[in-house]
Amino acid sequence: MFLSVFDLFKIGIGPSSSHTMGPMTAASRFLAEVAGDDWPRPAGVKVDRLGASLHGSLAYTGVGHGTDRAVILGLTGETPITVDPDKADAQVEKVKAEKRVSPPGHPGYNFDPAVDLVLDKKTPLLGHANGMAFYAYDAAGRLLLKRIYYSIGGGFVVSEEELQRMKTRGSVTTEGKKVPYPFKNAVEMLRMADKSGLSIAEMKRINEETHMTREELDQGLDHIWSAMKGCIDRGLSQDGIMPGGLKVRRRARQLHDKLQEQWQQNRPNPLLANDWLSIYAMAVNEENAAGGRVVTAPTNGAAGTLPAVLRYWLHFHPEADQAGIRDFLLTAAAVGGIIKTNASISGAEVGCQGEVGSASAMAAAGLCAVMGGTPEQVENAAEIALEHHLGMTCDPVGGLVQVPCIERNALGAVKAVTAASLAIKGDGKHFVPLDAAIETMRQTGVDMNEKYKETSQGGLAVNVVEC
Ligand code: SF4
Repeated sequence: MFLSVFDLFKIGIGPSSSHTMGPMTAASRFLAEVAGDDWPRPAGVKVDRLGASLHGSLAYTGVGHGTDRAVILGLTGETPITVDPDKADAQVEKVKAEKRVSPPGHPGYNFDPAVDLVLDKKTPLLGHANGMAFYAYDAAGRLLLKRIYYSIGGGFVVSEEELQRMKTRGSVTTEGKKVPYPFKNAVEMLRMADKSGLSIAEMKRINEETHMTREELDQGLDHIWSAMKGCIDRGLSQDGIMPGGLKVRRRARQLHDKLQEQWQQNRPNPLLANDWLSIYAMAVNEENAAGGRVVTAPTNGAAGTLPAVLRYWLHFHPEADQAGIRDFLLTAAAVGGIIKTNASISGAEVGCQGEVGSASAMAAAGLCAVMGGTPEQVENAAEIALEHHLGMTCDPVGGLVQVPCIERNALGAVKAVTAASLAIKGDGKHFVPLDAAIETMRQTGVDMNEKYKETSQGGLAVNVVEC
């Protein structure tokens, strides 16, 4: 069982990993298929026009989450890594005006988003709540190629066949990757740690280093933290209203300025740590809501919690160092991998417990580890954080990743620090195992009404008047 740290922490753009990054990746995968030879292309017939349809949650909240823009950008050849957030709007407007996409390496295809991009709320695709189909037609309008993809959370995209294989084998990234510590749940992780005498971060590092050099791993981890930190810093420097029509104002910068003022005047603030955690998390999620550059942790909607806790550790703990940052990320990824393998990190599948709940558990585990926690204490920290997010629904107002998402990340960060602090003061023994909390989250997600799974059909989304 292997899910790389770089599968969970992916650099991309906001506002949503499942509804923005995933569909953009799916569109670029479809382009590759169109250009490839893996389908029966009638002799002399050329692809003239492309189309796409979004289903389930992607149809309900796609406009608020920027899914339509993501598909357009993907069909121009952009990916979440290559796209420049500052140029994306102009690229989308160009496609709308020209009714055509010209991805590099392709002859160019007709594609009028007003006609060829359909939000189909009536026909969910059966494999997953976030389904989408792409189509290629010839000049006579005959369908030449159709492919279905699912965006399964955290920016992961699978085809129908891959989804089936994943359901049978348990993970999308397990194939062909053998690792020395193949733990697929927390019990196995603790057993292997006990037998080997290694920490969770050390086992995860050894697993990663079977596929890359130590230097590559450390550079990659440093790059991830640098992107997270850059996102916090950008978020703390911006003002104004976030896009999408809700007219929600950015607050992180103002709160940051107030805190700095208090700090300089030496005014006592008993809530200091909470305040810093909140502004760091909100800075990231405001950037995400504005379509900026963010890192999935494990998703975009939950991208603020973990960086906030890591930045808090650097801010308040004098022993914090570069090696600790790497251990934090590796430990968090180990826990995130277990959650993704056995339940879900997708709001459309299990509600926000799978997004901010998972992020909080990962952050709690990372913090507990770098504060010197044993593997048992780390597992306890993750469990406490996840347990106290169980049942949390996904009900974004207006389908935008703003309310409740931005503050929710702040609260997820505060809970993560509390969980790590409680766990490290114990001896690692505790009542609810992490595996039980994860299985409870999965079952709760299955039972959860679709209204509360990123469809904006229930909860806050229907009880808050949009103005
Ligand atoms: S409510 Fe939670 S799961 Fe839903 S979009 Fe917001 S952060 Fe993501």
